[in-house]
Amino acid sequence: MKKIVEGGLIVAAAAGIYVAASYAQMNFDTVEIKATKVSGNIWMLEGAGGNIGVSVGEDGVLLVDDQFAPLTGKILAAVKKISDKPVKFLVNTHWHWDHTGGNENLGKAGVLIVAHDNVRTRLLTDQATLLGKSAASPKIALPVITFDNSVTYHINGETMHVYKVPPAHTDGDAFVRFKNANVVHTGDVFASGRYPYIDSVNGGSVAGIVKAMDDLIPTLGDDTKVIPGHGPLSSKKDVIAYRNMIATVGARVEALVKQGKTLDEVKAARPTAEFDAAWGKPRSGDEFVPFVYYSYAPYKK
Ligand SMILES: [Zn+2]
Repeated sequence: MKKIVEGGLIVAAAAGIYVAASYAQMNFDTVEIKATKVSGNIWMLEGAGGNIGVSVGEDGVLLVDDQFAPLTGKILAAVKKISDKPVKFLVNTHWHWDHTGGNENLGKAGVLIVAHDNVRTRLLTDQATLLGKSAASPKIALPVITFDNSVTYHINGETMHVYKVPPAHTDGDAFVRFKNANVVHTGDVFASGRYPYIDSVNGGSVAGIVKAMDDLIPTLGDDTKVIPGHGPLSSKKDVIAYRNMIATVGARVEALVKQGKTLDEVKAARPTAEFDAAWGKPRSGDEFVPFVYYSYAPYKK
């Protein structure tokens, strides 16, 4: 058994079991949804799972990601305190369970779900990841509209650009940029102040994350607000620190893989050592290294 750490919650899982079964053991009753005003009419909700972006205004509520199914009621209650308009739209930044878990509930409520083509493809069938298996989603939970490169919303006085980034955390990551409010939601391609999960056996990779950060950083101003997939509301300097941490660890692990080292040997070399104090919670360096390792070494499913 090993620990899964997402959104500050720790559950036990083994590669052969379903991730959802692990999360079902979590006590969602104690989770509180915290709302933070980000900029203009954009808000961020934190609970368990990925951070949620919210656009409010006269045209209705748009959510970016929806955490876990048992939290949908609490999430909608938190939204109601911000806006009396109905939730109309949902964007999924990627397919993972802690960002799409509320899709079924919201789909049943008539919310229009939009995501990259590969998000729908992954949700359609069972998936195997380094954190465990994930079961196919019912039809009502699937994105209704998908895009290959980008889609633009014109709502709530905002121009909101949703665009695909190269395979990074998964093979279907999108960034959501609220142009007027000067806010970007990065999904899990960026985790702030903590080691990220990388779905490196399903198209994600360290090289992809570094590329996505190198493309993103020049577009950020000093006052741009960045909503990370996990971690606190952030800024350009946090993104740069993350990019440099992951590039450094990645280069070390890549060199060791090229020398033919096994995963245990790479762990023993402690490639994250000087970062662990600042970045090693809630996921430790030892738990992070496999995601980096399988960015460079083949993995047999
Ligand atoms: Zn993820």
